[in-house]
Amino acid sequence: MNRLGLWLSVALITAALCSGGATVAQQRTAGIPSGTIVDLTYPFDATSVYWPTAETFQLEKDFEGNTEQGYYYSAYRYSAAEHGGTHIDSPVHFAKGRNTVDEIPLTQLMAPGIVIDVTAQCAGNADYLITESDFKNWERRNGKIRPGTIVLLRTGFGKFYPDRKKYLGTDERGAAAVANLHFPGLDPKAARWLTENRSIKAIGLDTASIDYGQSKLFESHRILFAKDIPAFENVASLDKLPVRGFSVIALPMKIKGGSGGPLRIIAVINGS
Ligand SMILES: [Zn+2]
Repeated sequence: MNRLGLWLSVALITAALCSGGATVAQQRTAGIPSGTIVDLTYPFDATSVYWPTAETFQLEKDFEGNTEQGYYYSAYRYSAAEHGGTHIDSPVHFAKGRNTVDEIPLTQLMAPGIVIDVTAQCAGNADYLITESDFKNWERRNGKIRPGTIVLLRTGFGKFYPDRKKYLGTDERGAAAVANLHFPGLDPKAARWLTENRSIKAIGLDTASIDYGQSKLFESHRILFAKDIPAFENVASLDKLPVRGFSVIALPMKIKGGSGGPLRIIAVINGS
């Protein structure tokens, strides 16, 4: 083969590989929503907010620095409770036999999202319960909540994170501190209305729990989870989202049999 023949062969093979590659890339990108990406996840560190009774996030150094062989190396180990920082509550957290975190279908964790903004209602009332009327008011302005939506509740408490005194109502730790928790959450009556009248994939909010701080029976958890609807808690940056017109991708750590776990949640704002 002369040099021209060799070049042509290489060019043809390269073109074939490139066109094949491009098709795959197009197929892949076609399925990924395009637009501005908003990270709705807080970093995990020593300040991450955990329930007063739960083990907090610890990161310990195994090795960090130059090795004897001359290359840089770092490795750490971490430990934490499942429920802290930005995380998911799996249905099994409050409903026996419902999905564990590894069992939640991925299709339930990727969907169009909406924001119900109750910042004004929560401004002077840390014990505010998000009501059925809050959802109906949203629907009056934006249309009925579509089947398959991920609903995000914006209480405005995200601006306090990770100041536990302001965010949780107390910075004390231990079982006695639980009675002093004050932050907004979803009214169990609204949870029931949602599960019975709308078909949502998941729900999330910018507080530590889908039930408000003063809840004793965690009824909203129980009502949602009985229907296999998971909850995202300590969701960040809800003030960066429009009320609709975005997609949510919320992928938790796949802990086998887990009742929840750390969550990487992002939003992609349509056409931006
Ligand atoms: Zn939780």
